[in-house]
Amino acid sequence: MQLDTYRVVIVGGGFAGLNAARALRKTDADITLIDRSNHHLFQPLLYQVATGGLSPADIAAPIRGLLSKQKNVRVLLGEVTGIDIKSQQLKTTSGVVKYDTLILATGASHSYFGNDGWAANAPGLKSLDDATAIRRKILLAFEAAEQATSDEERTAWLTFAVIGGGPTGVELAGAIGELSRQTLRRDFRSFDPSSARVMLIEGGGRVLPTYSESLSPKAEKSLRKIGVEVMTGAMVTDIRTNGITVRRGESSEDISAKTVLWAAGVQASPLGKMLVESAIAEDATSGLTTDRAGRVPVNSDLTIPGHPEIFVLGDLSSFSH
Ligand SMILES: Cc1cc2nc3c(=O)[nH]c(=O)nc-3n(C[C@H](O)[C@H](O)[C@H](O)COP(=O)(O)OP(=O)(O)OC[C@H]3O[C@@H](n4cnc5c(N)ncnc54)[C@H](O)[C@@H]3O)c2cc1C
Repeated sequence: MQLDTYRVVIVGGGFAGLNAARALRKTDADITLIDRSNHHLFQPLLYQVATGGLSPADIAAPIRGLLSKQKNVRVLLGEVTGIDIKSQQLKTTSGVVKYDTLILATGASHSYFGNDGWAANAPGLKSLDDATAIRRKILLAFEAAEQATSDEERTAWLTFAVIGGGPTGVELAGAIGELSRQTLRRDFRSFDPSSARVMLIEGGGRVLPTYSESLSPKAEKSLRKIGVEVMTGAMVTDIRTNGITVRRGESSEDISAKTVLWAAGVQASPLGKMLVESAIAEDATSGLTTDRAGRVPVNSDLTIPGHPEIFVLGDLSSFSH
């Protein structure tokens, strides 16, 4: 095969896929970057959009625009729905795409640990749509509190429960705390926004469990300063339209809360499983599998075992060695 027709196909225009495309800018490869969305998203600032601090355009940029000067890349808008390792091709909503090298970087999404019914009452934060929906939910809760006809109803509208004490939950709860204690503090007449109850609920013993232990008490102290109630060792066992049930040790408590946000679990993109299934269909002895979160274990060069032509990057990969 001529070098100038060598096809590199990258799936995903997040941090991983975009950087892979850029790293290949000086090669003669014919690169196609496929994403189901037309924009690259700076996910670390999603919580700011979700709480009104930034607007969506501040954290999203068209993938096509970001790569417009790189002549060896073509951007294709489409969703990858199938992978066939044997014939080296992808099925996409924009047709079949063949590759010589495949770079898979489709990231991860939130997971409700099998309780998918909770999604409707406790949205997660992963996309711009999620962020704007959450922003609407939070701001409308304050509006509804202004018009509430009983103390009980007002309390429920002014109770915000963020489930999951990892970085996203900490950021979200902190931002809602600031919103109620600072940004909105003079804007309402029938209640004091700083009376809002903002809860951060974490099942484990400390917030930020994947970070150094010394950071957790510091984070909890900062959160309390801005009005966030940190509940650790607390498992959410039910989520309803009007509230949640929280179990701590032997006792369970029902809490009325109209705004419940989910930041508790992550599941890799289903393309990881699809890739592994295709590898197994080709060679049943390959031993390939995904980990519990659906990530694909990779070699130290990010290829998958037995397939030097396939790389898995970013949140979709498991690099634990
Ligand atoms: C709210 C939030 C806050 C975060 N804060 C931080 C932080 O402060 N610091 C930090 O280091 N990390 C943070 N992260 C994690 C960080 O954003 C991720 O590790 C990173 O985005 C992963 O990059 P990625 O390229 O692997 O996947 P992603 O950025 O998720 O990109 C995946 C891309 O693949 C596309 N895609 C998915 N499936 C398909 C398909 N079937 N077909 C076509 N395209 C598809 C998607 O549209 C997307 O563009 C945060 C994440 C979130 C959600």
